Amino acid sequence: MPFLSLGLDANILKAVQEAGYTEPTPIQSAAIPQILAGHDLIGIAQTGTGKTAAFVLPILAKLVGTTPHDRPRAIRALILAPTRELAVQIEENVRAYARHLPIRAATIYGGVSERPQIQALRGGVDLLVATPGRLLDLMDRRLCDFSGLTFLVLDEAERMLDMGFLPDIRRIVRALPQRRQTLLFSATLSQDIEAVTREFLRAPKTVQIGRRANPAETVTQLAYEVPQHLKSSLLLHLLREPGLNMVLVFSRMKHGADRIARGLEGKGIRTATLHSNRSQNQRLRALKDFKSGAVRVLVATDIAARGIDVDGISHVVNYDFPMHPEDYVHRIGRTGRGHAVGDAISFVTPEDHSALRSLERFIGRGLVRKRAEGFNYTVAAPAGATAAPRERHAGNSHGPRPPAADRPSGGGSGRRSGFRSASAGHGNRWRR
Ligand code: AMP
Repeated sequence: MPFLSLGLDANILKAVQEAGYTEPTPIQSAAIPQILAGHDLIGIAQTGTGKTAAFVLPILAKLVGTTPHDRPRAIRALILAPTRELAVQIEENVRAYARHLPIRAATIYGGVSERPQIQALRGGVDLLVATPGRLLDLMDRRLCDFSGLTFLVLDEAERMLDMGFLPDIRRIVRALPQRRQTLLFSATLSQDIEAVTREFLRAPKTVQIGRRANPAETVTQLAYEVPQHLKSSLLLHLLREPGLNMVLVFSRMKHGADRIARGLEGKGIRTATLHSNRSQNQRLRALKDFKSGAVRVLVATDIAARGIDVDGISHVVNYDFPMHPEDYVHRIGRTGRGHAVGDAISFVTPEDHSALRSLERFIGRGLVRKRAEGFNYTVAAPAGATAAPRERHAGNSHGPRPPAADRPSGGGSGRRSGFRSASAGHGNRWRR
């Protein structure tokens, strides 16, 4: 089905063409007509499927097709995202698709000066992308006029719940007009998500792309068995291969991310890090350098990497095996984006075996076992090294999500109550 038949404005089609898209992705074909028809919508799709355009394009089409509210400062569409990185990337999408439209967009998130954000709000914004914390700060100061709001989008809703944003979202939604169109996107449809849709959506249509939490089919998924103490040497060994030219490495903890980056830099491999101890400007810089090719490797923690939208990532390396199957799906969704092909490499220590088996059950397919050619697997662990220095938390089967320290500071204040306990949803699937 061509874009032309979806009923979008000509100026939007022009921008889509300029973005190089030739045909809509499945989530776009399914969601866009429903949104244009005015339905509330539940979109079950992971990142990498084109879901951002699936909601941004029809919202823009409806905004240009309707007269602005008579109050010039009134916000007409609000998109809520869990992290600032995701918010920034949604805004980049909005700017690209709205480049030929008279639509004013702004993004507000914590960790940076609020002054430009306040100025933008005062100047008038049609479409606002926001993380919940900073938005509430500015709402409390009566800087947001939602009286003309017609669209609310909750993006990566499952992640917002995981991060304890539900009370914030409730407060925000209470301040919005009841007559509005609400769209919710989530990688999975859990009971918690269903409860949220009952609370915020009205007679929603559901579109679901692929099997639940099914990693992008274009990604080759490999598992390298490796003892804990040889992980850093194995990473260096793999990076000798020039094909690994744009590599996103996942570390479970930010200190681990720094350690990995130091090790690579020490061997002359240009590396940047992305985690919550870095300032917003440092993070944006890291992403920019990675996108431009100025650094070859980006080492990130799960939460900081949310929403990274970088085309051309050749490989994702799970240096630390992910804590939750959903994290795995999100991590490897960073490669093979759009129609690109990519490899996902997971390091698997003996301690990770049961997690690997659970993951394979979850995604419904096996990872391909590989051994690195020419790599010396026999180097003994340094004397005194205890069993793998696992950074897994709350070593019990009902532990909480990763530490609060690595939550994004998307809104500054300590409003969020922290991660939900695993028992409240899709927590520790590994240990079933
Ligand atoms: P998303 O799932 O929204 O994170 O998008 C994943 C990637 O797919 C982004 O890099 C988009 O620019 C790209 N993309 C979105 N729609 C299309 C399309 N119709 N054709 C090709 N690429 C697309």
